[in-house]
Amino acid sequence: SSRLFHPEDIVIKTPHAHISSDSLTIMAGPCSVENRDHIFKMAAVAKQGGATVLRGGAFKPRTSPYSFQGLGEEGLKYLRAAADQNGMDVITEVMDDEHVPLVAEYTDIFQIGARNMQNFSLLKEVGKTKIPVALKRGMSATIDDLLNAAEYIAAGGNQQIMLIERGIRTFDSKYTRNTFDVAAIPVLQQLTPYPIIADPSHAVGRWDLVTPMAAAGIAAGAAGLIVEIHDDPEHAFSDGPQALKPATYLAMTRQAQAIHQLM
Ligand code: PEP
Ligand code: MN
Repeated sequence: SSRLFHPEDIVIKTPHAHISSDSLTIMAGPCSVENRDHIFKMAAVAKQGGATVLRGGAFKPRTSPYSFQGLGEEGLKYLRAAADQNGMDVITEVMDDEHVPLVAEYTDIFQIGARNMQNFSLLKEVGKTKIPVALKRGMSATIDDLLNAAEYIAAGGNQQIMLIERGIRTFDSKYTRNTFDVAAIPVLQQLTPYPIIADPSHAVGRWDLVTPMAAAGIAAGAAGLIVEIHDDPEHAFSDGPQALKPATYLAMTRQAQAIHQLM
């Protein structure tokens, strides 16, 4: 996973996306797949903002076991159908090594969540596949922890990896859910050949800070954004407070593309 052994950038290719710092890839969708109609509606919005990858969780790593845990395979089916309808690819979280073959049937990109960044049996399992993996930085993970986690995937033969900065825990979480470590983006670019994706939604946990943090992520060199959207955030099954409503999302993506043009 080091630039020393792989000096050129690694480009991730999925049917509708070409993920590298030459272009800006937008991945958008709700935190959770809630039902069939909703994911279809959100896919159309995501696409309108230029997203080529549809996100949505079917297996949700919730802090509380009593919170919505996701629709499972039913959610994967809806997500796949909504992406196909709009000519998009799918990114979705796989939480368990035993679920890798099931999720592989539906997704174009595996998402490894922050809470699973050091789930080594899961990392080894996705490392045996040829499906791109988006590895989220753990909430208390150092840059070296993240690089070692990526190495677990690469060691299995899968170098189609992207790294997601999604905010880390620091001493002050009164106004933001996490602290967006913007500097991690250029640091990781220097150290690894993998594309770096910014997740401003989980980084701040508040919709009103998502647009400025998306801008900061792109200005710092991110190859893409992964953003949560919802048409009715107050009733979202998960992460409503950080979801962008459609109009705000569309304005954010216009600004994001403009900033990327300047880079
Ligand atoms: C998510 O993408 O909805 C998610 C659970 O993210 P993270 O693993 O970064 O908390
Ligand atoms: Mn979420």
